[in-house]
Amino acid sequence: MESCVFCKIVSGKLDAYRVYEDDAAVAFLDLNPVSRGHVLVVPQRHAETVTELSDEEAGELFAAARNVAALIEEGLEPDGLNLLQNNGEAAGQEVRHVHVHVIPRYFEGDGLAVRFDTEALTEEAASRVLETLGQA
Ligand code: AMP
Ligand code: ZN
Repeated sequence: MESCVFCKIVSGKLDAYRVYEDDAAVAFLDLNPVSRGHVLVVPQRHAETVTELSDEEAGELFAAARNVAALIEEGLEPDGLNLLQNNGEAAGQEVRHVHVHVIPRYFEGDGLAVRFDTEALTEEAASRVLETLGQA
C-alpha cells in the first residue's frame, strides 16, 4: 500500500533501524521507544489489523515476534518482555499496518505502565458474552 509508512519500510523506500527480517516479516526499532530495545514486528504484506491476517500469516507474524524476543533476551538481557498488539483507534493503533510491539522491560524503570482496571466477572456477564460468541 503506497501511502503506508510500514509498507515503505518493508520495501526499503523508507529507512529504519532494522533488526530482523524473514520471508514473512520485518522488524525495526520503534522511533519513539518506551524502553531500550523497543521493536516493531510487521508482516511484509499490508494488512490493517490482526483479523485481516490469514491463520498462516498470523502464525508467521507471531513466530517472527518470538524470534525478535529471543534476540532481545540474548542481546539486551532485559528483566522481562511485553508483546503488545493494538487494533483500531480505541485500542491505541496509530499506524494502520498490523504490528506487534516487542518491549523489553527493566526493573530500573522504563516508559511503560501496564495497568488493568478490573472488576470481578459475574455469572450473568459471563453467560451473556458466551451467548453472543455462540459458546453458551
Ligand atoms: P501503534 O500505536 O500501536 O499504532 O504504534 C505505532 C508505533 O509506530 C508508535 O510507537 C510509533 O513510535 C511507531 N512509528 C511510527 N512511524 C515509525 C517509523 N517510521 N519508524 C519506526 N517506528 C515508527
Ligand atoms: Zn502497510
